[in-house]
Amino acid sequence: MAIRPIVTAPDRRLKQVSTPVEKVDDELRALMDDMLETMYDAPGIGLAAIQVGVPKRVIVMDLAREGEEPEPRYFVNPEIIWTDDSETRVYEEGCLSVPEFYDEVERPAKCRVRFLDYQGEIRELECDEMLATCLQHEMDHLEGVLFIDHLSKLKRDRVLKKLLKERRLKEKELA
Ligand code: ZN
Repeated sequence: MAIRPIVTAPDRRLKQVSTPVEKVDDELRALMDDMLETMYDAPGIGLAAIQVGVPKRVIVMDLAREGEEPEPRYFVNPEIIWTDDSETRVYEEGCLSVPEFYDEVERPAKCRVRFLDYQGEIRELECDEMLATCLQHEMDHLEGVLFIDHLSKLKRDRVLKKLLKERRLKEKELA
């Protein structure tokens, strides 16, 4: 396993639509292992493959709290097959690709997802609370959408400008 560098906004790669996985094999499992390690190291609770620069429809997640047993989850080719349109949930979201910025996003409170697991088996899962929010956030990544895309243009431009400025400063320091 290896920790991979995380792609941060604004980076064009984060805007691309990821492609479906053809087969869950050892190579894909190695990617998922790396993604999980990268996510734990960051630390974060969810990570899509494009966030380590791989445009494949793969998500890893672990919503266990500190002190609890780790509970890694793997979603390959996830599809939301049902969302509860009657109820929404507002949660203050963050993203490893948008460091040090948090803001409230409103999403359906419940959804049902169909996906392939770590072994390549088809599964379905009913999601609510944190799992529903996190899953929808990560699924957005597969479509090239960031949580800041759900905010006003003013807020989004402000955070992207700040991130760009910080990156340029860092590059200058390294030069
Ligand atoms: Zn994210």
